[in-house]
Amino acid sequence: MNIKLRVVSLLLIMLPGLVLPVSVSADWFEDFKTEATNEQLHQFLYEMPKGGDLHHHMSGSGFSEWWFDLALAAKSDGYVYYTKVKLNNCRDYGWQSFKTTPYHLMFQTIQESAWKVLPECERDEYLLLSELNEVQKSAWMNSFRLDKDYEGRHEFFETHWQRLGDLVANPYLRGELILRNFQAFADEGLIYVEPQVTAFGYKQSDGTPISPDDVAVILRERLAKADIKATGLTYRFQQAILRFLPNAEQALEEAYRFVSENEPYVAVNMVGREDDDKGHPLRFLPTLRALRHEYNNVRLSIHAGEVDEPNDHIRDTLLLGADRIGHGLNLITDADTMRLMRHGPYMVEINLISNLMLEYYSDYSQHPFPEYLRIGIPVALSTDDRGMWDSTMTDEFYVAVTEFNLSWEEVKLLSENSLKYAFVEESVSHDLLETYRSRIGKFERKARKSGPAGFSQQNAPRRAFICRRYEICEP
Ligand SMILES: [Zn+2]
Repeated sequence: MNIKLRVVSLLLIMLPGLVLPVSVSADWFEDFKTEATNEQLHQFLYEMPKGGDLHHHMSGSGFSEWWFDLALAAKSDGYVYYTKVKLNNCRDYGWQSFKTTPYHLMFQTIQESAWKVLPECERDEYLLLSELNEVQKSAWMNSFRLDKDYEGRHEFFETHWQRLGDLVANPYLRGELILRNFQAFADEGLIYVEPQVTAFGYKQSDGTPISPDDVAVILRERLAKADIKATGLTYRFQQAILRFLPNAEQALEEAYRFVSENEPYVAVNMVGREDDDKGHPLRFLPTLRALRHEYNNVRLSIHAGEVDEPNDHIRDTLLLGADRIGHGLNLITDADTMRLMRHGPYMVEINLISNLMLEYYSDYSQHPFPEYLRIGIPVALSTDDRGMWDSTMTDEFYVAVTEFNLSWEEVKLLSENSLKYAFVEESVSHDLLETYRSRIGKFERKARKSGPAGFSQQNAPRRAFICRRYEICEP
């Protein structure tokens, strides 16, 4: 030991006060939480630099008013939209009630090329989106939100996407949706996003299909424009497949080929309600094993355990090769896999607001998030389909901090994990972490100096979820 070091050690022994800054550092946030009003805490969390959002679906992330604006603006690309506002009882038998998109579902939105080929009786059920009156417009916007007590999982899975209809089949509109999302995430202090952005199922305004590779070209051109670059976000995309469909294996093969050949895609995900047994994880093991003989550059993050019943799906999903688990709710019922994941290389993408809105929990006292966090299972917060919950990433942090009494170290850990487990090259991950640490350090110094009073301005978006549940909005 050289002299200098010995002197320092001596000082540390003699003056234990020297290590105090650590505990002071922990205390300041406890004081902050106690002293801040709900509004100040929410504003603090809005201004707080964050890491990434590793789990969100681009279509589900669009707020209703964005969809409306973008749908009307799409006219400049030749796309005109109609939506179903009434029923003329045009069909004789059963109204195809059990089709994916049943005849009687209101606010199905279709493009002009599809409207034109409907029988006259049905054409009359639709109105140009641009001609909705205020009542119809408000109902149209609410039709993509879980805004009523009686709405939940079924409304979300079986009607929201079906109503969006052709709006999700326009690659130019998709580009504008990406811009709005990036801007909103950047405003909340995020520096990385990894959305699930499908490249499949698009069509031209005349109804001609567009291949996924052509969609990727359109998206790359949009991503290269100055307004998206100005957000400063680093991004990678995932391609998701619907896991319970009869041809899901084929879709998985197509997704692998597509992701392997198209930047900025890096990963494949599997989505769809997990209470449909047809999409169980081990179904895909043979397909993935075959794909791994061919492809060397496709990562896997897979939804698993987003279900009420206990089962082995998270264990099985790790066997599929997933590096990250979406939701992971029923991991809590699988002791062996929980032990395996403690301090391990696999991360669970936590979506607190989604889980409540889709009725996996009726309140947060049942949620396993704090158990995972505090026994060392890597976790990060994400927004899933925030457009449909009408919420933000700030709100996810607000829920986490207030429901589970997070420490400042835990708040930072969540953001650090969202960068450490991102599907980016090591050097990029390193740079993102450096950026985050520098920003959060500066923010912390400012917050400690100002206290809650420094967060009395009110420019954080306060959307319906947080207003309804936490009473932090003006009456
Ligand atoms: Zn999801």
